[in-house]
Amino acid sequence: MAGVSSVRSQRSCIGCDRQDSKKELYRLVRTAEGDVQFDPTGRLPGRGAYVCSLDCLMAARKNRRLERALRVTVDDRSLDRIAQDLSRAACAATSSEE
Ligand SMILES: [Zn+2]
Repeated sequence: MAGVSSVRSQRSCIGCDRQDSKKELYRLVRTAEGDVQFDPTGRLPGRGAYVCSLDCLMAARKNRRLERALRVTVDDRSLDRIAQDLSRAACAATSSEE
């Protein structure tokens, strides 16, 4: 309706290359501080990367695609935190859907 063209925002998972719409994937963002965090809103400013599952997050970390996508080194502690936030979000998404 508005003049804004609705481009379908397809993103690909950096773990398995699966393409999906933005809201089906989990966004990770590199903050201004150079920290990496899970972005449940998908709207935090910063360089972003997408994964479709926790497994893909781990795979992407292992083969360094995560580092390459975000251009930052992700240490174990950050990865732990991201993994926890991500799995919590995954649980919330399946249990609180109405
Ligand atoms: Zn994936």
